[in-house]
Amino acid sequence: MRRVVFVLAACVITLAVAWFLAGLPGHVTAQFGATTVDMAASVAALGLLIAFILLYGVFRGIGALLRLPYVAARWDAARDRRRGDLAVTRALLALAAGDKADARREANRARQWLGDTPQTLLLAAEAGRLAGRDDEAEAAFRRLTQRADAAFLGYRGLLRQALNRQDWSEAAALARQAEAAHPGASWLRHQRAQLALRSGDWAEALDLAETDTARAALAAAAATAEQDPARATKLAQKAWKADASLAPAALAYAIRLRAEGRESRAQAVLRHSWSLAPHPDLADFALAPVTDLLARAQAAQHLAEANPEHVESRLLLARTALAAGLTGEARHQAILARDSGLNQRRLWLLLAEIEEAEGGGTEASRAAQRDALRRAATADPDPDWRCTECHAIAPAWSAACPSCGAAGSLRWGPSRAGSYQVPAVVT
Ligand SMILES: [Zn+2]
Repeated sequence: MRRVVFVLAACVITLAVAWFLAGLPGHVTAQFGATTVDMAASVAALGLLIAFILLYGVFRGIGALLRLPYVAARWDAARDRRRGDLAVTRALLALAAGDKADARREANRARQWLGDTPQTLLLAAEAGRLAGRDDEAEAAFRRLTQRADAAFLGYRGLLRQALNRQDWSEAAALARQAEAAHPGASWLRHQRAQLALRSGDWAEALDLAETDTARAALAAAAATAEQDPARATKLAQKAWKADASLAPAALAYAIRLRAEGRESRAQAVLRHSWSLAPHPDLADFALAPVTDLLARAQAAQHLAEANPEHVESRLLLARTALAAGLTGEARHQAILARDSGLNQRRLWLLLAEIEEAEGGGTEASRAAQRDALRRAATADPDPDWRCTECHAIAPAWSAACPSCGAAGSLRWGPSRAGSYQVPAVVT
């Protein structure tokens, strides 16, 4: 419609110009040497118009000839772009389909047609990685790191390669460079946290931890590894405040407090943690300064008052009473633990010791001892450190699970659920 209007308008203008020219009055006379030309004004105007149009056409032609190399270059560039785009699409399809040879070939074509752009370099690197050509992939990733607009992509690829090689120090260095290139990337934060855990850099892992459970474990480990006493105390306090029920956190804090001469505060920390989640290591550390056996039994009594109904309190009282020669009290506490539902190996071994200490060498005593040992053989296993993520058992506590690497996932408790009931905390 617009075109029709345009053509009509052009016709009208042409007719108007022709009508105007035809109506021009007068003559134009021109003399070239001996030749005199006389023509009507309308013919002269028409001649001028035609001459102008011809001259314009000549100049346009010359301009087109001068621009020819530039236009040809643009045509070539457009053709390369079309071919490159097609190669990029084919390379992406080959990568998605896992076709290694096609992916490499098309990625190389894309680089040939489009040059080294972030997209073509990344494609070449991924195609090399898929084909197992780590050298090719690394070269492409390194070229990416040299580009300000895509350095993070290069460092990310090199970091993944270092992780696959389990080259933790190189991976840590690349992670720092990637962080500088693109601060705050969530993927990188996760990778840095994993690296810190693998390399045992607890302080770095603590900075990157996202849950209180992980923070408590990592701060406890960082406090133990910290050389500066003041910083170690702060870390240990942080660990204990994050999770007072975590025995290693309480121990780390109590160790620092005892080292600073704040024994009563250390005992208060241990007592509070005992009230939340008793662990034999807490009792061992709390009773360590006491050497007299009767005094140890009294100190154990004081600690157990924080959580008197718990089987750990019963077992602690039984063990310390037995060591002090108070076999009646030891038996009483062990029986209370057994009656609360505890059926663990350590309880029956303790009862066998009590039988031996109390009964002397009588036949009845030996029979009772044999019975206790027989029960120990078939009893529930003793509590241990177990990962809440992968459920693997760890031989000792650590800030990260040795099996799955999860931070703060190790919890101490009975191996078999329901082997005894944990009574409500009495405060
Ligand atoms: Zn685990």
